[in-house]
Amino acid sequence: MKINRRTFNTKLAAGLIGAGLLPSSVLAFDSINRNQKKLGIALVGLGNYSKYQLAPALLNTEYCYLAGIVTGTPSKEQEWMGKYNIPKKNVYNYENFDNIANNKAIDIVYVVLPNSMHADFCIRSAKAGKHVICEKPMAVSVTECDAIIDACKKADVKLSVGYRMQSDPYTNEIKSLVKEQTFGNVQYVSSDAGYYSGGNPDQWRLNKKLSGGGALVNMGVYGIQSNIYGTGLNPISVSAQEFSTRPEYFKETDETITAQMQFPNGVVGNLFTSHNANANRLFVSFRRGWAELYPSNSYGPLAGRTSEGKTIEFPYKPQYQQTFQMDDFANHILKGSTNFAPGDMGKRDMIIVEAIYKSIKEGGKTIPLDLGDMGIVKV
Ligand code: NAD
Repeated sequence: MKINRRTFNTKLAAGLIGAGLLPSSVLAFDSINRNQKKLGIALVGLGNYSKYQLAPALLNTEYCYLAGIVTGTPSKEQEWMGKYNIPKKNVYNYENFDNIANNKAIDIVYVVLPNSMHADFCIRSAKAGKHVICEKPMAVSVTECDAIIDACKKADVKLSVGYRMQSDPYTNEIKSLVKEQTFGNVQYVSSDAGYYSGGNPDQWRLNKKLSGGGALVNMGVYGIQSNIYGTGLNPISVSAQEFSTRPEYFKETDETITAQMQFPNGVVGNLFTSHNANANRLFVSFRRGWAELYPSNSYGPLAGRTSEGKTIEFPYKPQYQQTFQMDDFANHILKGSTNFAPGDMGKRDMIIVEAIYKSIKEGGKTIPLDLGDMGIVKV
């Protein structure tokens, strides 16, 4: 196993040191000032993702912590204040949220609301002078992504999208195989991201006004991301098809979509996304071998293997991917380190989402894309 700067972080290193796989001196690799104050994060929206992933992940972060909450449900306040030791002065609702501007304990606002509410709360957070993490998909249109990016620029605050995979060590190993051309050039990528949805028919994910779309905006963005880090490139065109088997349940949103992306140098990318099938895999075919992550987009730990017969593994105690993600962003703010999921990455993915919907509307027509290297983060 190789450890490069990207896959390295102190938690991973601590696990490896504990397992006798690294000398303790490697911690000098991390130049963070230990006395640096931890940044305070306020979570906006205390639904499943905040409750079961982000809040527990924030118990292990080194450079940020759960300082505040913003909720439209008063009954959640006491529970969260007690569980996470949050003072009343750091608790807001959607109406008084803008007063957060006066609260020095909050450095970062993390927007974890239904997709159509991201833009409003991200813009309000920026105007309050707070750094912003916006959950995926960044918004429900490219226009909204632009508005979020502009607001953050104007307010001079940092912006990141909640793409946890960009801080995941297994994902980073794929990026490293692509970059170092360990098995030669990439020739073909295939990524699947989906799950079977059969729950509450009134949930916001099935409501186009709140979600902005179906499987594509919810899970397809993982497939788009995998195609891009699996090639190291942005696509130059896309064509797509939509499939429906339960129109009575998916009344307003897409159920299953397949898309083909063309990348520079003739590289072909394939994407499958669905709310009707469990799918969770990335396959990268290189000139002289292949690599696979299976699973590739769940909460982890992920698993992978290569054509050499080796498994991709990291012998560390399983961590929340979000712990890595939020510490990476905190370090970006504190130390100017790389922002691994910047706003233009979220915007680029929304451009691709809109092109996929356009292709479907036009009967599978190939839609050209002119992305340059938008959202490609050099690591
Ligand atoms: P959820 O339904 O569990 O929670 C949504 C929250 O928004 C609830 O607290 C709800 O009270 C609040 N809310 C406010 N106005 C609402 C309205 N009009 N309708 C419905 N809820 C409303 O959803 P979730 O799974 O926590 O997802 C929230 C966001 O997080 C979404 O953007 C989703 O895409 C994203 N997410 C990201 C990941 C990831 O791995 N990065 C995983 C899950 C969800």
